[in-house]
Amino acid sequence: MADHDVDLFVIGGGSGGVRAARIAAEHGARVMVAEEYRLGGTCVIRGCVPKKLLVYASRFRGEFEDAAGFGWSVAQTSFDWSSLIANKDREIARLETAYSATLEKAGVKVVKTRAVVADAHRVHLANGEQVRAAYILIATGGAPSYGEAIPGIEHAISSNEAFHLPEFPRRVLIQGGGYIAVEFAGIFAGLGAHVTLVYRGDNILRGFDDDIRQHLRGEMEKRGIKVITGCKVAAIERVSAHYSVRLSSANHVTADRVMFATGRSPHVTKLGLQEAGVEIGKNGGVAVDEYGCTSVQNIYAVGDVTNRINLTPVAIREGHAVADTVFGGKPTKVDHSHVPTAVFSEPEVGTVGLTEAQARAKLHQTDVYKAMFKPLKATLSGRDTTVLMKLVVDGHSDRVVGCHVVGEGAAEMTQLAAIAVKMGATKADFDATMALHPTAAEEFVTMRKKSASYAREAAE
Ligand SMILES: Cc1cc2nc3c(=O)[nH]c(=O)nc-3n(C[C@H](O)[C@H](O)[C@H](O)COP(=O)(O)OP(=O)(O)OC[C@H]3O[C@@H](n4cnc5c(N)ncnc54)[C@H](O)[C@@H]3O)c2cc1C
Repeated sequence: MADHDVDLFVIGGGSGGVRAARIAAEHGARVMVAEEYRLGGTCVIRGCVPKKLLVYASRFRGEFEDAAGFGWSVAQTSFDWSSLIANKDREIARLETAYSATLEKAGVKVVKTRAVVADAHRVHLANGEQVRAAYILIATGGAPSYGEAIPGIEHAISSNEAFHLPEFPRRVLIQGGGYIAVEFAGIFAGLGAHVTLVYRGDNILRGFDDDIRQHLRGEMEKRGIKVITGCKVAAIERVSAHYSVRLSSANHVTADRVMFATGRSPHVTKLGLQEAGVEIGKNGGVAVDEYGCTSVQNIYAVGDVTNRINLTPVAIREGHAVADTVFGGKPTKVDHSHVPTAVFSEPEVGTVGLTEAQARAKLHQTDVYKAMFKPLKATLSGRDTTVLMKLVVDGHSDRVVGCHVVGEGAAEMTQLAAIAVKMGATKADFDATMALHPTAAEEFVTMRKKSASYAREAAE
C-alpha cells in the first residue's frame, strides 16, 4: 500500500466513521478522516445526545406536578430556554473534543473539510488537495428531508435548527409522525409550549406495533399535545412575528415555529459516487453487501448513508466490522436482527423484535400477552396515565419474538429484554424468571393469560 498516502480514508466523522477510523488505526492502518461540520456527527452534535438532554429538561414539568401527591409543595417554577441551550452546547463541545482526542490518540489524522470521491483510489478535499487511499469508507450519514415543496416551506425548521432556537416558541406545529417528530412534540410540550402534531398517515409511529402507536397517541393527548392525523401542512405564511399554517383540511393553525420532521435522506449526492461506479440501492442509500462493501471493491459504506437501520449503535457496529474485515484479518458481518429501539417520548416507548402484525404475517401461530395498568407512582400523584406492556410469542416454539412497552423507563427495560429476545428466550423462560417487585418491568415475567392467539391460514 506504499503508493497510497493512507490505507483508509474515511469520509464523515460521525458514529460509524469515527469507530471505523479508530479500530482500523488500532489494527495498524494509516487513517485519515474528513469531517465537514463537527466531529461526532449527527448523534453527538444534533441527534441522540442533545435530544436526550432536552428530553430530561422537559420531564421536570411532570415531576413538579406529580410531587404534590407525595407531600411536596413546589414553589413557583420557571424555565429558561437559553440556559438549557447554553448548558447543552457546552456538553456537546466537550464530547466533540473527546472524540477528537480519541482519534488523535489512536493516530488518526483528522481533516476538517469536505471530501468527495475522485475515483476508486483518490479522494478530493475542498482545499484542492488529493489524497491517495487504498480503501475509502463512505460514512456521510443523512440529512433532514422536507418532502414535497409547499408554499412557505422556507419558514419551516428541521431538528437541526430546533436545537439552536434563539427563543423558546410558545406555540409549535410539528409535521411528521416518526420518532423525531414525536420526541420533539414531547420536548416542546414538556417545556411549556402548545404543540400540534400533524401527520398525513392514519397514526403516529408507522412501523411500530399498532397497540403501542394507539397507546402512545392517547398518552400524548392526555399531556395536552394535539395530534391531527390524515392531514398535512399545505402552506406556511409569515404573519408579523408568527406563522399561519394552512392544513390540507383547510383549517389554520397559528404557530411561533413550524418544524418538519418528515424523514431523513442519505447523504449520497455530489460525493462523486456514481462517477466512481458506486451503486445506489433502491432505498436511496449506498448499496453494500453484508460486509459493508459497495459495488467498488475497495470502497465501503456504513451507517445512515446506507439507509438500512438508521441508529447510532448500528452505525458503530458497521464501522467496527469494516475495520475488522479490511484491516483486522477478521471478516465480520453485522447481524441486523433484533435491534432494540426506543422513542424518548413522554411516556417512553421501547421495542425489540416483531410487532404483532409482523408476527401474524410470518408465523403459523402467534400468541399475544398484554398488560395495561396504572403505574404505582400515579396512585399518589393522581396522574392519568397507564403503562402498556406486550409480548409477542411464537405459539409453536414458545419463543418470545417481540417485546413492546409504553411507560416510564421503557428504553432501559427494553435494552435488557433485548438480551433475552436475542438469545431466543421462550415464554416459559420469562415465566420462570422471578419478578423484581415493585417494578413495572416485572409484568414481563408475570403475564400468564394470553390476550389473543392467532393461527395463520394454511394457504398463506
Ligand atoms: C434528532 C435525531 C435524534 C436521533 N436520536 C437517536 C437516538 O435516540 N438513538 C439512536 O440510536 N439514533 C438516533 N438518531 C440517529 C443517529 O443520529 C444516526 O443513526 C447516526 O448518527 C448515524 O451515524 P453515521 O455515522 O452513519 O452518520 P452521521 O452521524 O450523520 O455522521 C456523518 C458525518 O459525515 C459528515 N459529512 C457528510 N458529508 C461529508 C463530506 N462530503 N465530507 C466530509 N464530511 C461529511 C457529516 O457532517 C457528519 O458529521 C437520531 C438522529 C436525529 C437526527
